[in-house]
Amino acid sequence: MKKIPYGRQNITQDDIDAVISVLKSDFLTQGPSIKLFEDAFAEYVGSKFAIAVSNGTAALHLCTLAMNLNPGDKVITTPITFVASANCVRYCGGEVVFADIDSESYLLDINNVRALLEKDINKEIKGIIPVNFAGRVVDLEDFRKLANEFGCWIIEDACHSPGGYFINCQNEKVTSGSGRYADLSIFSFHPVKHIASGEGGMITTNDELLYQKILNLRTHGIQQSSDKKEEDHGIWYYEMQELGYNYRLTDFQAALGLSQLKRATYGLEKRKEIVKFYEESFKGKAFIKQLPGYVEGHAYHLYVIEVIEKRKELVDYLRQQNIFVQIHYIPAHLMPYYKKFGWKKGDLPVSEFYYKNCISLPIFPTLTIEERRFIVEQINKFYAK
Ligand SMILES: *Cc1c(COP(=O)(O)O)cnc(C)c1O
Repeated sequence: MKKIPYGRQNITQDDIDAVISVLKSDFLTQGPSIKLFEDAFAEYVGSKFAIAVSNGTAALHLCTLAMNLNPGDKVITTPITFVASANCVRYCGGEVVFADIDSESYLLDINNVRALLEKDINKEIKGIIPVNFAGRVVDLEDFRKLANEFGCWIIEDACHSPGGYFINCQNEKVTSGSGRYADLSIFSFHPVKHIASGEGGMITTNDELLYQKILNLRTHGIQQSSDKKEEDHGIWYYEMQELGYNYRLTDFQAALGLSQLKRATYGLEKRKEIVKFYEESFKGKAFIKQLPGYVEGHAYHLYVIEVIEKRKELVDYLRQQNIFVQIHYIPAHLMPYYKKFGWKKGDLPVSEFYYKNCISLPIFPTLTIEERRFIVEQINKFYAK
């Protein structure tokens, strides 16, 4: 059996043709494909605006900047995420407050978040960054109510959940990134994610002012619209109004992203098929503590199970069989960098307990039926020993 990673991109001839056609055009960095990709992505998630950027981390940074996060401000997020969800707070000099997760959904536990906000008598907590871990979409309606009560903003880290949704109180499907409850949402097009553009990211929102602000910050804070200029020396004249960055995506990456987006729905269907296969195969197995169970609206970026014992040995064994399972995630608050701020083992027991037994099995649209069977067989074999 050849190497099976936990996630993998799928590049088709159409994708290759799309990139080549841009390479033969006049534009390498931002050109017409950027706007096409942004518009198509906004339509896919149901938001008014979308801004393509160089990667998901840049997207997060632009969002914390746009929300005017200042040194000393505090922001709540989950430790069970890729560290970038927390790091964007640090880029602005803010302080990360990790809240524990719910043991069943693995998402930020809203009761925990509420408790932290109630304790925050000096109103230092300015925002919440919920993460749609593994592809399961956070109930942002509940988070919005809570955020409004305490005057906080919400940045939805939707890197795992393009195409996912949750059901709100009115029984409506609320798409991840739709901008209905979050101020801003962010996505990544890293190759392990649903849609790949090499490096790449997207910000979506329904707020026009935030949209304009982020467009400016993406390119050095340089003001293009003539009505906002303080002076005007002529046709060449531009003004830098605030400190921005170069977080642009190239046009050929946008062409790749756009081409991939056309297969997003198909990819989601494939992922669901794999989940159903795993669920069937592992039902009732004594070595499993928690099978996630099929969840409506889940975008299944990851398929995580919790095993009863011997997690480390299982990972080693599967690697020997060329099955490259992964662990998502080492709790961010236990990273040496965050420990320097006083975080320590025992602070977030549910997250730490989850980390002990979790394992992400391979899931990506091109995972073959033979590979799926092989993975299940090998796990059964390991625990039968
Ligand atoms: C991948 C990822 C990011 C960062 O995206 P990059 O494009 O790699 O910078 C942020 N948050 C989560 C949850 C991610 O999975």
